[in-house]
Amino acid sequence: MSQVSASAPDVEVPSIPLAQIAPWAVFFGLIAMLALFFVSTDQGATSLISGTAIHEWVHDGRHLLGYPCH
Ligand SMILES: [Zn+2]
Repeated sequence: MSQVSASAPDVEVPSIPLAQIAPWAVFFGLIAMLALFFVSTDQGATSLISGTAIHEWVHDGRHLLGYPCH
């Protein structure tokens, strides 16, 4: 029979101030929105870059997320 130790390990969870994490949250939010734009809309409903290269690269993701494609 094994014994379970009653003492929990001392783990400190670091707290990150909101003012410190907010710029990073905004930055990655914009990057995510840009990626979502290319997956969902570009070379579909609208097009910033001519051709079909972006469409071909993100085509499976577009279908996976249910965006209208063809
Ligand atoms: Zn398609």
